[in-house]
Amino acid sequence: MHQITKSNNLFEEAQNYIPGGVNSPVRAFKAVGGNPIFIKKAKGAFIYDEDGNEYIELINSWGPMILGHANEKIEEAVHEAVKGSLSFGAPTAKEIEMAKTICEMVPSIEKVRMVNSGTEATMSAVRLARGYTGRSKVIKFEGCYHGHGDSFLIAAGSGAITLGEPNSPGVTKGTARDTITVPFNDINKVHEAVMANKDNVAAVIIEPVAGNMGCILPNQGYLEALRKICDSEGIVLIFDEVMTGFRLSKAGAQGVFNVQPDLTTLGKIIGGGMPVGAYGGKKEIMDFVAPVGPVYQAGTLSGNPVAMAAGHAMLNEITSDESLYSDLALITAKLENGIQAGLDELGLPYTINRIGSMISLFFTSEKVTDFEGAKKCDLKLFGQYFREMLKRGVYLPPSQFESWFISKSITPALADRIIEASNESLKAIH
Ligand SMILES: *Cc1c(COP(=O)(O)O)cnc(C)c1O
Repeated sequence: MHQITKSNNLFEEAQNYIPGGVNSPVRAFKAVGGNPIFIKKAKGAFIYDEDGNEYIELINSWGPMILGHANEKIEEAVHEAVKGSLSFGAPTAKEIEMAKTICEMVPSIEKVRMVNSGTEATMSAVRLARGYTGRSKVIKFEGCYHGHGDSFLIAAGSGAITLGEPNSPGVTKGTARDTITVPFNDINKVHEAVMANKDNVAAVIIEPVAGNMGCILPNQGYLEALRKICDSEGIVLIFDEVMTGFRLSKAGAQGVFNVQPDLTTLGKIIGGGMPVGAYGGKKEIMDFVAPVGPVYQAGTLSGNPVAMAAGHAMLNEITSDESLYSDLALITAKLENGIQAGLDELGLPYTINRIGSMISLFFTSEKVTDFEGAKKCDLKLFGQYFREMLKRGVYLPPSQFESWFISKSITPALADRIIEASNESLKAIH
């Protein structure tokens, strides 16, 4: 049962050639202890490691595999595209189809530019907001993640009006000065920050539902209040829907909460598993991008034909499945109820947050509505829970601060297996 010899050997070898043995830090399992498993393949709801262990998948490439792994329609589209060469660096008809589909699905997006990752999308959107407004400051929220662009790697100052500090070496103080970080779900702090930087705030960027500090929902009226402040102060409101786009609804979180941002950033699901991102929004703002406008942004591989084929096939699958989001919500609610029942039976007071197919089990007895709340979790206990789940064949995101991603391949029977594993794991660690 659960031998991980090959993974351990590969991890050792990987560290000789790749910093930390991984190409993205969270994969190293640092937050939960132990070594990462090395993946060989995946199909539907299951992922297999190099030792041949089978796991039920709740990472799903951090979101993109919303239909489950190795979806045949998407793979067919990719195979077809590959036959016509892998890249041109020139316009293709497929890019129009893709852009049109995105504009139809997300009403606030009138024009869209394709890029290669979520990071590129948010960096570009912020540059555009600055260029468009002629202002320099950006307001972001504690615990929200917008990729690894310099402007976002800024820790909060001690108050809304104090300057931020770089939270990674390599980010300059100059960059930090232009980013203001305020707590999630506290509209007064946004007001304060805007007033303290009157006529100098270019953009407010937010995950409308946070997924990168665990799943945290916006308070009632919060997104509307942000919209109002941005309207009255001439600030560009950016919804970073890299995670929530095409996950919470066809129109993302903005479709669920009915608040329209000026710009939206997309990634993850939009590539169907290929490296893709996009940013789009109001025509008037998007036409500020080169070559029509003065704000420069480019990409050799942007709109890549294989990536567009995968992404477009994914969006087609999503639009043709009428009950996708209600099915996903139903199965995730089943998980929530089952895990909650297990907690109740053991007398454990932990907190579950869920919306649609995003769900987090926080190891704290308090409500979690912001990053301060999420940080109250018992991280050691989460690590133990994670490893117990892995032993029982459930592959969770290796961090308390990540949402679980439920795919369409999770059947009720598999949900029961996850619940059972959760109950056993909770018992094992208490
Ligand atoms: C994943 C993520 C990003 C970064 O996307 P990458 O493709 O990893 O660069 C940005 N914003 C949010 C909300 C994300 O979840």
